[in-house]
Amino acid sequence: MCITSYTFSEVSLRGEKSGKCAVCGKHAKRAEKFWQTQNPYNKNSDGSVKSRSDIMKELVIERDEWLKKPLYHQKCEPPRVSDDDEEFEEEVYH
Ligand SMILES: [Zn+2]
Repeated sequence: MCITSYTFSEVSLRGEKSGKCAVCGKHAKRAEKFWQTQNPYNKNSDGSVKSRSDIMKELVIERDEWLKKPLYHQKCEPPRVSDDDEEFEEEVYH
């Protein structure tokens, strides 16, 4: 028996990059999966439900942005900053 879900299906895209690690300079290879679920609540900015190709377009953009970022080994990756290091908002008066 085969159950097919039409409304909640996952659309995914795999990204891979390899090259020199930005920290240690050794060869590194990373793979990442980009995905979204196609469902009635996942909508475009105009309110229409995203089609698989709408989602795929967004995933391609997401992947391309990831590809542009520097490459790190998982262990070399700088820790994510989630702290009080907030920059002052600098107002410039003319
Ligand atoms: Zn490294």
